[in-house]
Amino acid sequence: MKRYSAFAIAREAMRNHTGWDRAWAKRAPKKKYDVIIVGAGGHGLATAYYLGKNFGITNVAILEKGWLGGGNTGRNTTIIRSNYLQDPSAAIYEKSRSLYETMSQDLNYNVMFSPRGVIMLAQTQHEVRGYKRTAHANALQGVTTEWIDPARVKELCPIMNIDGPRYPVLGGLWQARGGTARHDAVAWGYARACSDMGMDVIQQCEVKGVRQQNGKVVGVDTTQGAIDCDKLGMVVAGHSGVLSQMAGFRLPIESVALQALVSEPIKPAMDIVVMANTVHGYLSQSDKGEMVIGGGTDGYNNYTQRGSFHHIEETVRALVETFPMLARLKMLRQWGGIVDVTGDRSPILSKTPVEGIFVNCGWGTGGFKAIPGSGWAMAELIAKGQSPLTDEFSMFRFREGKFIDESVAAGGAH
Ligand SMILES: Cc1cc2nc3c(=O)[nH]c(=O)nc-3n(C[C@H](O)[C@H](O)[C@H](O)COP(=O)(O)OP(=O)(O)OC[C@H]3O[C@@H](n4cnc5c(N)ncnc54)[C@H](O)[C@@H]3O)c2cc1C
Repeated sequence: MKRYSAFAIAREAMRNHTGWDRAWAKRAPKKKYDVIIVGAGGHGLATAYYLGKNFGITNVAILEKGWLGGGNTGRNTTIIRSNYLQDPSAAIYEKSRSLYETMSQDLNYNVMFSPRGVIMLAQTQHEVRGYKRTAHANALQGVTTEWIDPARVKELCPIMNIDGPRYPVLGGLWQARGGTARHDAVAWGYARACSDMGMDVIQQCEVKGVRQQNGKVVGVDTTQGAIDCDKLGMVVAGHSGVLSQMAGFRLPIESVALQALVSEPIKPAMDIVVMANTVHGYLSQSDKGEMVIGGGTDGYNNYTQRGSFHHIEETVRALVETFPMLARLKMLRQWGGIVDVTGDRSPILSKTPVEGIFVNCGWGTGGFKAIPGSGWAMAELIAKGQSPLTDEFSMFRFREGKFIDESVAAGGAH
């Protein structure tokens, strides 16, 4: 595959852009693969990429029922941070954040990583205590974050009203190297790199059944026929429960819609990311000028991949006291994705009761930031049967009571 470069752009400009290759090859499935990954979202594609890059395993297919990146990966508000409370979380999220720093170079694809800084606002005494505790934990974990006072919050984000009558800003947890990246580009960059290594990225190929012999996986049935494999990675976010049912086991997971919206584009108004978890809204400004606004999950389990009116009102009402200028903006569009939520708000990267089947899910409302780290760890788990980054994230931890409780520090957030 030809490299993308300034020189290549100039060359193609001279010849009417007739010389570009397809970013990834369109292939029919082979009869058998060493590894099949179900789900061409960021986590599935990153898993495949690191199987090839770190372990030389390239006889791999990534099967996607829709279009690649069309799930939560292409629907999220792209916040990247690693300021989690528990050690196993900080390890995998910080690995991930650090891989984002060089992702454009590694993939030769501009993912527009923008480490513009993320503040998590403290608007209650409970949050002040919680975020100060997280800042101390992060210092011990080697994750660079700091507790900042309201004046510094205002300096970083002048459009904010820090004196709101109901929820004044009492300070914030600031991660200067957190930020955003372009979500589609992350999926496209990984897909291109996987295809370049000889892997098959197969879209419009829904897995309908999982075949096993003597407790071991032997293949899948799909809308494009039966495909055999030695190992199977299930990386399907909100549909993890559906896939695990096909394989004959249950996951401790709930599926629920999470919604977001964007405003009309306006001139540059804020150059950081702000998360307000008490009122539950979060905000950044896209390169096009839209205010990207996310809210909470629906209050009931569902598979509804779309937005709803009551959520717009709830989310915007929550944010206008702190961001009064939002009241004057028009909404441009709204959407939803189906997220996969665990009881302790931490992910599952695990072996399963079926030999050869591995599961990567439970990233819930905050897995975009984790894509490279999760892919790195999951590839190691599939290739070697063990990874230091996944040891604590077994699906069996719920049975054993070994929770990784992030619900206070991060689970309600993104
Ligand atoms: C509105 C919203 C805002 C969010 N904001 C943030 C944020 O700011 N920061 C952050 O870090 N995270 C955020 N998230 C969460 C983040 O988007 C997800 O955790 C992450 O994208 C999950 O990636 P994935 O690859 O696991 O899943 P997905 O991208 O959903 O990929 C799973 C894929 O599996 C496919 N699939 C399902 N079933 C089958 C089948 N049977 N056969 C074949 N393919 C199948 C689906 O079509 C899908 O493409 C947000 C999510 C939403 C919805």
